[in-house]
Amino acid sequence: MTDVRAGRIESFIKPLRVVPGGQVNLAEDFAPGHGVGVAKKADGVELLQLGIELLDEYQRRLAAEQTRGVLVCLQALDAGGKDGTIRHVMSGMSPQGVRVANFKVPSAEELDHDYLWRYARRLPRRGEIVIFNRSHYEEVLVVRVHPENLARQRLPGPAEDSGVWKRRYREINAWERYLSDNGFTIVKLFLNLSKEEQRTRFLRRIDVPERNWKFSAADVRERAYWDDYQRAFSHMLNATSTRWAPWYVVPADHKWRARLCAAAVLAHALIDIDPRYPQTSAPARRDLAKAKKDLEKEAPRGAPADPYEASLADRNRKRTKKGGQGKRKQGSVQS
Ligand code: AMP
Ligand code: MG
Repeated sequence: MTDVRAGRIESFIKPLRVVPGGQVNLAEDFAPGHGVGVAKKADGVELLQLGIELLDEYQRRLAAEQTRGVLVCLQALDAGGKDGTIRHVMSGMSPQGVRVANFKVPSAEELDHDYLWRYARRLPRRGEIVIFNRSHYEEVLVVRVHPENLARQRLPGPAEDSGVWKRRYREINAWERYLSDNGFTIVKLFLNLSKEEQRTRFLRRIDVPERNWKFSAADVRERAYWDDYQRAFSHMLNATSTRWAPWYVVPADHKWRARLCAAAVLAHALIDIDPRYPQTSAPARRDLAKAKKDLEKEAPRGAPADPYEASLADRNRKRTKKGGQGKRKQGSVQS
């Protein structure tokens, strides 16, 4: 069962992966409006629901195993759909096992440290999934497009040296490799939005009063740097898509497709980890058997010794009876 799902998900997400060591050009190689092989929205929404159920199942196992953690890095331009993606992808998972970390303009305290410090502080624990809403990749995106951000970081030596970006890519790759070697899977999603769709979404944020809060004049100022960002994205994808932490470029012009792709890439990572519920050792099983006996002895008069076991047996009896009649009503609930 899992193998079938894993195979289908792998072939679904493969075209989104930036092959490590390859050379991509965002504008030429990835279309923001790509159909990802799902033509109808209704089909996409149904598939997303399946994906969300799968995420729930695997997240429980990840939390129980307590051995590996998952870091999801979500990057996009303004109005790229980061918030909606997070809302949908997380909707089926237990809030106890998932956390979101948002990264804004760095604070004075954060600027007093090395640039990876603030990201390192919010990494997942073993058993946890953390979504970085914007991530350490801002350090080679907004910081690169607006060099005054780099000046604020007070690096020693000539900061404007172009070698700084190559060095950052190297440092980020090494950091992610270290995390990956130590049990933390890194899932990197770039939501690829077209300029026209960004314009449409900005206008919607202006036109709909309930959406006004999502819009700021700075967003339009940032839009003027569109081409610089596209170049920075291409550099980033080529330099930091690695064997241990590949990038996925998610077509983001259709929100439902973007959410489906994001859920699929995360599900793929979890299936690959294949977390297991801890095995109960023989001595622990003996302890459980003894505790079961003790609890059964406490059953009040007339109550089954083990109500759970009794309800299971009851359900099985009913099921056999119905099966025997051979005319189960359509749409009847089975559990
Ligand atoms: P938003 O996520 O749209 O609410 O805004 C967060 C803002 O913080 C964006 O404009 C980012 O570009 C900016 N930001 C995030 N990380 C950094 C960083 N390391 N340096 C400078 N600006 C950043
Ligand atoms: Mg913004």
